Amino acid sequence: MSAFFGHPEPRLVLDGEYPCWDEPLAAVNRDLAATLPDQRPLRLIAYPESEDLEYVYVALSKGEAHGNALIPTESAAEALTAVADAAQDTVSERLWRAWPLCTVHDLGMHPRDIDGRPSWWCAGGPRPGDPAHLRAAIGELDTVQQPRPTPRKRPKNRRLR
Ligand SMILES: [Zn+2]
Repeated sequence: MSAFFGHPEPRLVLDGEYPCWDEPLAAVNRDLAATLPDQRPLRLIAYPESEDLEYVYVALSKGEAHGNALIPTESAAEALTAVADAAQDTVSERLWRAWPLCTVHDLGMHPRDIDGRPSWWCAGGPRPGDPAHLRAAIGELDTVQQPRPTPRKRPKNRRLR
């Protein structure tokens, strides 16, 4: 169904249609839930290109996507890195925020393959002795950071010594 020729409507991809991306998407959604708990899970949408070709994107729950289409791969690690990359594009461009943030350095992290394990990589702080570092495997950000609780007021009589 297309409103204009050449501008087909995207469709929601159902679980199991692209099995290679189901687990990567679930892993990235764990990281989303651990860092932006108010966001609903990301999902896959597809734009039909022709009768037997469509392009699949990682989209916000409302269907907004940004960046490049996913390219099918045989490698589970590559698929996870690709979905994380696409999710990062969509979240950062559509929500106008760096994501995910390293809570140690307050910097946006990037997916990187570390010894065959897709991971979130932080560029580190500006000072020597504060180097780039591996934060967590993709899908495991909840092991290093929890959603920030609602800030509480500091006690008024708190003093620095
Ligand atoms: Zn960091």
